[in-house]
Amino acid sequence: MIWNESRECMSRDEMMTMQGKRLAKQVNNVYHNVEFYRKKMQQLGIEPGDITRIEDISKLPYTTKDDLRDNYPFGLLAVPQSQIVRVHASSGTTGKATVVSYTRKDIEVWSECVTRELVMCGLGIDDVIQVAYGYGLFTGGLGLHYGAENLGCTTVPMSTGNTKRLVTMMEDFGATAIACTPSYLLHIGEVIEEMNALDRIKLKVAICGAEPWTETMRLQIEEKLHIHAHDIYGLSEICGPGVAADCIYHKGLHVQEDHYYPEIVSPDTLNPIADGEVGELVFTTLTKEGMPLIRYRTKDLTSIDRTPCECGRTLPRISRFKGRTDDMLIIRGVNVFPSQVEAALLEMGEVTPHYLMIVDRVNNLDTLEVQVEVEERFFSDEVKELENLTKKISAVLQSALQIAVKVKLVEPRSLERSMGKAVRVIDKRKLV
Ligand SMILES: [Zn+2]
Repeated sequence: MIWNESRECMSRDEMMTMQGKRLAKQVNNVYHNVEFYRKKMQQLGIEPGDITRIEDISKLPYTTKDDLRDNYPFGLLAVPQSQIVRVHASSGTTGKATVVSYTRKDIEVWSECVTRELVMCGLGIDDVIQVAYGYGLFTGGLGLHYGAENLGCTTVPMSTGNTKRLVTMMEDFGATAIACTPSYLLHIGEVIEEMNALDRIKLKVAICGAEPWTETMRLQIEEKLHIHAHDIYGLSEICGPGVAADCIYHKGLHVQEDHYYPEIVSPDTLNPIADGEVGELVFTTLTKEGMPLIRYRTKDLTSIDRTPCECGRTLPRISRFKGRTDDMLIIRGVNVFPSQVEAALLEMGEVTPHYLMIVDRVNNLDTLEVQVEVEERFFSDEVKELENLTKKISAVLQSALQIAVKVKLVEPRSLERSMGKAVRVIDKRKLV
């Protein structure tokens, strides 16, 4: 099933023509209604008339998270505030929150995109979906909620909190789908196991996002819970969840490019990068009214594939995320992403996907300790077995990361569980 075939299966030429028209209109809009963009364009000597085709996008200035913070909270609005019907905000680890404002039409477009993606994951009006993202300023809860209702699913606004109650209701309501972070789904899986509920639940699909996860983890979740797990991607600055998601073929995440135009650029030079090569993902909101953004730098690292997909959609696909430029750790001069650790651990098969990286600096030398949960049996077995496994994991991580790694095995459930985004890294070097 495809929700909006006329858009999701559009030919490349038609799509590019439409994108060009929408871009020209949007640039004209921000030039006249957002002082920030007018000034930036004037600095570059560009006028709205210079933008007529989608290829002209490379002439336009970039927007960063700092620009959003500098214009906190409503400085980038392109409409009078009376037309704003919703505000979301993401908590920053530093400084002020990033605030995003939506008009009624923005909410409709956002819901439509989420609906397209739920259909892409195989959902329809007969499904019962539990939305277990946080409801509130974070876009996850309400974003999925509106999309699911728009599709016609029976939508259960669980939010996060009592996981046992969630599993009980999953059973009682006959929930067939759940939307949450992948790390929370792992925890839900543990609780299902504890309650011996796997045979009694009807769950068939999980839509997971808001944090990077590996393909191996996705497959492990599918196997453990006997479901199909899909990746959904978004960021509040663009709309929230709904920017992209993967179809049943799992060959990358289809981007809703009629509304959110993707580019991949070099994070260093900001020059465009060829299809298939990894770079920073940049979005332009082609139709957004409330707070349109031009060439917003997401800091997420991925590549793009514009070849047709087996599902019939022509929407381009971005690959699973390699991480974020700001998630990247530099340890002894080597670039390290938490996703590399996760992939290496999961490939071994003997450990659970719960891990914590602790980076420190001892005598001016960076150190990396990785705490890994292993199955109970290793602790009841001989000490020697635990030692052997520790050595084995160290070797695997060392070869994956190319740096020395101290491994500490910990008992099941000893690392903290998160209902939102999981904490995978503690960088003590920054705390000093
Ligand atoms: Zn597809």
